[in-house]
Amino acid sequence: MKLLENKTALVTGAARGIGRSIVLAYAAQGADIAFTDLKVDDDAESLLEELKAMGVKAKAYASDASSFEGSEKLVEEVLNDFGKVDILVNNAGITRDQLLMRMSEQDWDLVIKVNLKSVFNMTKAIQRSMLRQRSGSIINMSSVVGVSGNAGQSNYSASKAGLIGFTKSIAQELGSRSIRCNAIAPGFIETAMTSKLAEDVREEWIKNIPLRRAGKPEDVANVAVFLASDLSSYVTGQVIQVCGGMNT
Ligand code: NAP
Repeated sequence: MKLLENKTALVTGAARGIGRSIVLAYAAQGADIAFTDLKVDDDAESLLEELKAMGVKAKAYASDASSFEGSEKLVEEVLNDFGKVDILVNNAGITRDQLLMRMSEQDWDLVIKVNLKSVFNMTKAIQRSMLRQRSGSIINMSSVVGVSGNAGQSNYSASKAGLIGFTKSIAQELGSRSIRCNAIAPGFIETAMTSKLAEDVREEWIKNIPLRRAGKPEDVANVAVFLASDLSSYVTGQVIQVCGGMNT
């Protein structure tokens, strides 16, 4: 028996990077998959083909998680198409790194809107159906810098720290209905988001990681499988750091 058989997962920002790995890991465990990205581009189409070849039901949706109305409409469509959502992964996120001295109001507002408000939008939109079915697992993608801060990322760190407060609050609000809410805080993971870093910055990060390597999207996806599955049925309100021991 696979870990996620008979479950439906909805994952935001999944055409690339960590979200894509999560979707593939969920499908490998038997879950049906609804995933979003800003556009259904070539990456999203190729992911869809891969998922269908794995024998699960899958559909890609173009949706901006930072839009309240867009999130409501998306959840309505997904519920119509799949009948239910058991697992919500709020993965979509962006960076606009800059020292506070040079950070614009627009870069502050955009990062908070895409990384934090999106989680409010999607969780609020899904909660009614999860309350009705009296079960659900919500997984929010935070970051180690949401736990410990990082110079040059005050907007991003604030959004990811805010998301931890949201996660713990929702775990307390919805726990009595068997709806769990946890956060994953990845460290330095090789994706498009981190490929912008200069080689010397990259080497400096890796020197400070006890496991002496950058993480792979699959390292995060494995923890997302655990949190989505019944293996974690007594785990809620927690932040699991997937960082090679960096934040120890
Ligand atoms: P990524 O490769 O940039 O992927 C993020 C995906 O989200 C992209 O496909 C992007 O679409 C999509 N997206 C952006 N804004 C969106 C929106 N408003 N609505 C829907 N989708 C949107 O990033 P990643 O490294 O996989 O990161 C995934 C999550 O992990 C993020 O929340 C990130 O903050 C977090 N994280 C990453 C790391 C790391 O080291 N990589 C570490 C800690 C936490 P486009 O490409 O079309 O813009």
